[in-house]
Amino acid sequence: MEEKKIYDTIIIGSGPAGLTAAIYNFRADMKTVVVSGNQPGGQLTITTTVDNYPGFPNGTGGMKLMMDMMNQYKNLGGEIKSGLVKKISDLRSQISESGTNFEVEFEGGEKLLTKAVIVATGASAKWLGIEKEKELIGHGISGCATCDGMFFRDKVVAVVGGGDVAAEDAEFLTKFATKVYMIHRRDSLRAQIPQQKLVLNNPKIEMVWNSEVVGINDGSEAENLENIRIRNNQTGEEKVLEVGGLFVAIGRNPATGFAKELVEMSEDGQILTGRNEEYRTMTSLPGIFAAGDCTKVDYRQAIVAAGDGCRAGLDAEKWIKSQEN
Ligand SMILES: Cc1cc2nc3c(=O)[nH]c(=O)nc-3n(C[C@H](O)[C@H](O)[C@H](O)COP(=O)(O)OP(=O)(O)OC[C@H]3O[C@@H](n4cnc5c(N)ncnc54)[C@H](O)[C@@H]3O)c2cc1C
Repeated sequence: MEEKKIYDTIIIGSGPAGLTAAIYNFRADMKTVVVSGNQPGGQLTITTTVDNYPGFPNGTGGMKLMMDMMNQYKNLGGEIKSGLVKKISDLRSQISESGTNFEVEFEGGEKLLTKAVIVATGASAKWLGIEKEKELIGHGISGCATCDGMFFRDKVVAVVGGGDVAAEDAEFLTKFATKVYMIHRRDSLRAQIPQQKLVLNNPKIEMVWNSEVVGINDGSEAENLENIRIRNNQTGEEKVLEVGGLFVAIGRNPATGFAKELVEMSEDGQILTGRNEEYRTMTSLPGIFAAGDCTKVDYRQAIVAAGDGCRAGLDAEKWIKSQEN
């Protein structure tokens, strides 16, 4: 009977975190596979220009950057598998002579065995879900002020949301924009008090309370954002704001549902790491590591995810060695 292959690491996710972990693991002569998921290359593949990833004097395209990372791993000889992971099982309660620790199960039923797992499944921005929003992402609509803010110099923009991220985004955008509307569906902010003060005392920010965005580019088929229609949810009154940018900061969905019963997470599903001094990317379950936007990370940026992926790769390598001794 053919013996089943046992990987050193199965890396779930093919964004900057997963691919960086994979490059490090593969180059350390480990048996490694990346599972690419339903968005090969991750979130950056939906953005046009990336200007803040070091090494590109004239910026680069989001899709290009991620395909380059993927090809770097593939050109080394690395294995990528398509599909979605639905479950990880800890096999250590069963007697195992082979050193196998986990079984990773795919949608569709295929199962792979591994010594360690790196979860790098990222997160997706929550969007408003209204007409024309999807088509205009990258054409005036953004989910990341840090990434895209500087493209909105001398424009009027709007931020939707009332939490810390929305407040930080609004404040950050005043560096570039002539005016920032902050649209929030309640009559007070959820952001922490210092963040609230920065926003409420900034003369460039106009608060639009009790309001929701209900329309985009009313009466226009333009390829770029020109206006948004907002509705006051107390009075029902609607008005159109002429804006060149709309930043949606209403939260994120970490893609971690499949690991819920397995590792500790924050209330909103971000995987918790950082408790083990020796292996900073280890989760609450030894042998499972996590990196990038799927974790409780301060800064959701590609370079942070790549750095985190590097640490997870090195942590997993060191941990596997420690188990063998
Ligand atoms: C529109 C937009 C523009 C951005 N612009 C910039 C920018 O200019 N500069 C910058 O630094 N950052 C930017 N960011 C942020 C950046 O994209 C993220 O911080 C970064 O991609 C996070 O990397 P990650 O590897 O953690 O996750 P992701 O890039 O989200 O990758 C997650 C991967 O996991 C896979 N996956 C998910 N679930 C499963 C599963 N169950 N099984 C298998 N695979 C799975 C997905 O298919 C994907 O490949 C932008 C984000 C967005 C949305």
